[in-house]
Amino acid sequence: MSGHRDIVIAGGGMVGISLALQLARLMPDETSICLVEGFPFPKVSADGRPEYHPSFDARSTALSYSTRLIYEQMQVWEDLQQWLCPIESIHVSSRGRFGSTLMLAGDYGWPALGYVVENAWLGNTLIQALYRQGRVEVRSPARVVNASPSGDGVRLRLEGDVEDEIEASLLLVADGANSGLRDALGVAVEEKPYRQHALIANIATAQPHRGCAYERFTDEGPLALLPLLPAPGGENRSALVWTLPPERAEHLQACPEDEFLRELQQRYGYRLGRLQQVGDRHSYPLALVQSAEQVRQGVVVMGNAAHALHPVAGQGYNLALRDVAELAAVLSEGVAAGVAPGDLAMLQRYQKRQLPDQERTIGFSDRVPSLFMHSDPVLGLARDMALAGLDILPPLKREFVRYAAGVAELGERASG
Ligand SMILES: Cc1cc2nc3c(=O)[nH]c(=O)nc-3n(C[C@H](O)[C@H](O)[C@H](O)COP(=O)(O)OP(=O)(O)OC[C@H]3O[C@@H](n4cnc5c(N)ncnc54)[C@H](O)[C@@H]3O)c2cc1C
Repeated sequence: MSGHRDIVIAGGGMVGISLALQLARLMPDETSICLVEGFPFPKVSADGRPEYHPSFDARSTALSYSTRLIYEQMQVWEDLQQWLCPIESIHVSSRGRFGSTLMLAGDYGWPALGYVVENAWLGNTLIQALYRQGRVEVRSPARVVNASPSGDGVRLRLEGDVEDEIEASLLLVADGANSGLRDALGVAVEEKPYRQHALIANIATAQPHRGCAYERFTDEGPLALLPLLPAPGGENRSALVWTLPPERAEHLQACPEDEFLRELQQRYGYRLGRLQQVGDRHSYPLALVQSAEQVRQGVVVMGNAAHALHPVAGQGYNLALRDVAELAAVLSEGVAAGVAPGDLAMLQRYQKRQLPDQERTIGFSDRVPSLFMHSDPVLGLARDMALAGLDILPPLKREFVRYAAGVAELGERASG
């Protein structure tokens, strides 16, 4: 046995590192915190880009206003700003139908409706902040390969830097949607496959995006083009998230560049002029994955291990970060008052506080693709009217925008 830690975070992806940073800031000094990550944390390579890491790969992430507020508390916002492209407007349309709507940040008195960052640079900023804070013990590359209940906490087996067994008062499971630790602990999982893949790539366009995020619903699935900062050579760039049936995604991932650009142009149109170039293409199978339990004595399941969502509404990480902020607040308050970190009643308090946000956000992310996937003419009409209706009814549109920005959740919390 090689010791005891108060809190062990298993998984140092987007959510695990965010947990480490927020806990390091808020927990009493004597609370020991250890972060275990299977991959080596990437450095910036000779070509000036961070190396590959599964959580900080070629994707881009749309960060909501709620995430900005949490990052400001975590003191990473200032460093991140150089990599962020503000979303000044969102254009939502339906291919071949009449409904469309435009939402402008200025109409709501906000500087931006959200911010887009390439995951590689988000990871780099979070990892730099992790090294800077100097409080969390970081074990990487190392894996937590087993977890079992032990007294009021959990016994963990680690492999990697040194083979080891650790007792933890609290295990935070943040090892992703296919969580091995969730399975090792016998936590059931509910999975609803969408039978769709998300094809992602960066696209160079003839015209600048002017801060506009395009969300376009097509018969095959939703397609988003999110504004990115220009490439080092000055080219206009947007990040594509194209939801497609699996076999179409496979074909479009492998086909020649000119065929890919032709197909995309046909479905997306010419709002950004001619689509000129596509970067590396990657594809992700999509499913709504939900852990049947999120808290047990000595255990909390977090991030994608707790809930992995359809990316159409760009909510997965934003929701997970609100979970992180809430858990850190509940734990720090409880532990400072003498409660053990793994205390079930305290962990249930966290879950009770966060559940309404999770249910609303998961429901929203699940409904949007279903509504827009149906070829049924009645649903098609409902969809068009919903888009047109957002334009006609400003209060409805305001609610939609507040919701997408995560601001509605903050308002609920403040008043609740
Ligand atoms: C195409 C796409 C686009 C998306 N766009 C958005 C968006 O715009 N906005 C948004 O909010 N969300 C978005 N998301 C969702 C977002 O990517 C996820 O919410 C986020 O990646 C979850 O992070 P995580 O840390 O929980 O899991 P992961 O990113 O899967 O990280 C898990 C980590 O755990 C490590 N690990 C695994 N097993 C072990 C072990 N046994 N021991 C130690 N370490 C281990 C892995 O190496 C990895 O680093 C998108 C998702 C997809 C697929």
